[in-house]
Amino acid sequence: MNNISSAYNSRRLLTYSPAYTVVPTYECFNRCSYCNFRRNPGESPWLSLEEARVRLEAIADRGVIEILILSGEVHPGSSRRSPWIRHLHDLGQLALDLGFLPHTNAGPLSYEEMAQLKQVNVSMGLMLEQVTPQLLETVHRHAPSKVPTLRLQQLEWAGELRIPLTTGLLLGIGESPGDRRQTLEAIARVQQRWGHIQEVILQPHRPGSRQQEALPGFDDRALPDVVAMARAILPENIRLQIPPNLVAQPDILLACIEAGARDLGGIGPHDEVNPDYPHPAIAQLSEIVEPLGWHLDRRLPVYPAYYRWLTPSLKRAVDRWNGEIGSALPVN
Ligand code: SF4
Repeated sequence: MNNISSAYNSRRLLTYSPAYTVVPTYECFNRCSYCNFRRNPGESPWLSLEEARVRLEAIADRGVIEILILSGEVHPGSSRRSPWIRHLHDLGQLALDLGFLPHTNAGPLSYEEMAQLKQVNVSMGLMLEQVTPQLLETVHRHAPSKVPTLRLQQLEWAGELRIPLTTGLLLGIGESPGDRRQTLEAIARVQQRWGHIQEVILQPHRPGSRQQEALPGFDDRALPDVVAMARAILPENIRLQIPPNLVAQPDILLACIEAGARDLGGIGPHDEVNPDYPHPAIAQLSEIVEPLGWHLDRRLPVYPAYYRWLTPSLKRAVDRWNGEIGSALPVN
């Protein structure tokens, strides 16, 4: 047994994904009032494949494994929807050709669009955020993509298509503790049906400099309790993720870990969704967690339990990484 396996077995393993974010476009037809990412349609030129190649080749030797393809959304009724999906596919293929492991998060997609993107992604992401429809009257009143039933449908389709999925809750956008419980219970039901959700992010809202409307940040002190509630409700095979750049105080981060968080998500040069909150350095995080016996290690953006769902070319890419760095999580 190597050191990594023994760390996992001793239940003191914390993981993160060394990641780099590619943004095909910032344009988005939704207007969530807390957003720090979006531009109006037509005001954000799409990232060309040539430019993406230049950026990815520049990071080839920097230890990055995951390429997060994070896009604003083109309206489903737009004539640019198909070209946008093709572009997302081509960016995934490019990242794969250059040896990285792509993970796309581009909002709700149709069944066919998801099936297309599955070919070039080792996993995909969609935040459920909150299932209460009441937010459609407040922070999501101009965000048709945030209809909870639409997002739940996508979670179901991802399961049907056998796509390993990351989802999560956005905390502090006007929901009540009871709403959080209902959202977690909804994720648990989907997981019981399909078993494809590898991790759930518990993401505290943080105010940013580009927000349309002022909204106070989530009170960090409540975060460990939310983690504990999630751990009690969600099946054991879902790992809980906390974004360390959004949890400023080390004692709160440690309390979240003690309550059941085991993953710190994608750590890279820039958080595109929260540009005002840079990621801490890995050495800095190690200094916080190691004195309490936690071992911080890299993981791939797909968990071993889902390797059997990958296409042969995606599986070969995953095998290459496991050969190079070993698997932090046990391979079944
Ligand atoms: S939060 Fe996402 S869906 Fe909402 S406006 Fe911003 S980019 Fe669009």
